[in-house]
Amino acid sequence: MAVPKRKVSPHRRGNRRAHDSLKVEAFHECSNCGELKRPHNLCPACGFYNGREVLAPKGI
Ligand SMILES: [Zn+2]
Repeated sequence: MAVPKRKVSPHRRGNRRAHDSLKVEAFHECSNCGELKRPHNLCPACGFYNGREVLAPKGI
């Protein structure tokens, strides 16, 4: 079995994990209803995209 030759030092381990943090997901306010939505995506609350209704909202 392949085994690491040396123990990874705390510094080296920290350097490796420096890029592991999760990014905050992008979101913007809907121009129609003001609900937070993901950019370039249909608004899940009102079904609008680019100023027109694409999909009827749920529950109406
Ligand atoms: Zn909306």
